[in-house]
Amino acid sequence: MPGQLEGKVAVVTGGNSGIGEATCRRFAKEGARVLLLARRKQESLKVQDSINKGGGEATFIPCDVGNVDSVETAVTEAAKTYGAIHILFNNAGGGGGGDFPNSSTEEWNHVINVNLNGTFYVSRAVWPHLVEAGGGAVVNMSSLAAQRGFSPRMYDEFGATAPSYYAAKAGVDALTRYMAGVGGNHNIRINCVRPGQIMTPGATRGTLKDPDGGHHVFEKMFDMTQITPGPGYPEDVANLVLFLVSGQSRFITGEIINVDGGVAAKI
Ligand code: NAP
Repeated sequence: MPGQLEGKVAVVTGGNSGIGEATCRRFAKEGARVLLLARRKQESLKVQDSINKGGGEATFIPCDVGNVDSVETAVTEAAKTYGAIHILFNNAGGGGGGDFPNSSTEEWNHVINVNLNGTFYVSRAVWPHLVEAGGGAVVNMSSLAAQRGFSPRMYDEFGATAPSYYAAKAGVDALTRYMAGVGGNHNIRINCVRPGQIMTPGATRGTLKDPDGGHHVFEKMFDMTQITPGPGYPEDVANLVLFLVSGQSRFITGEIINVDGGVAAKI
């Protein structure tokens, strides 16, 4: 049976780790040719080679999504690699360590730049290729942080990622709705995923208050806030992203869908 993405070419930013890696693998399994854009070469080649060895098709293209020149160069190369682009997953991003009001200007600008500006830069560069292909699908990466805050008790016990992250991801939500309106004229659907706590290297690296690098505290937060028993895994998000770029979701655009074990419904 042909895969759901047979004949499609997909760009995935931040495809060498966590949610991005799982999505590259899922897309490739469904027959897409995958363009993996990220900064770290060794990690990216490892994912690329493993997909290719497994019978899929993937190519790593170096890209810093927060740098306009790097994005323009990478997307030009990406479009040449397989001759078209039909799908974009704006996944690259991450949080910061500073809290409020102690975050530095530098930290604020960096997090906004990678998560929000990066989503804009890559979408802007890929857009003409989607139009040229006669349409396509974009999925942006938000976070529960765009939708929910925390109580003083949660803050005291667990800490929080930087305020810039909350603001950047809320910007991604708004950009999604805007882009969806424009996409209507071009047969391009734009949706967004809002993960809760997903076990990835990025999420457990230690921005939260825990000597083990956040892992243990992360799990404790699951217990308190989720309906579905946790933890969530990168594949849980990849499955939703696949649905949103496939024909199965042809009547869905401008939506931001939570994949968080029910956190948003509960608190
Ligand atoms: P991860 O394992 O650390 O992956 C982050 C990816 O982003 C890496 O591939 C990294 O590759 C890439 N990246 C970071 N900065 C980049 C830049 N300037 N240019 C290009 N690529 C860049 O973390 P993850 O949890 O899978 O995060 C993926 C996305 O999900 C992020 O946007 C994050 O905010 C979002 N998210 C995660 C969770 C969660 O619980 N895990 C929850 C909500 C939202 P390089 O470093 O090689 O560039």
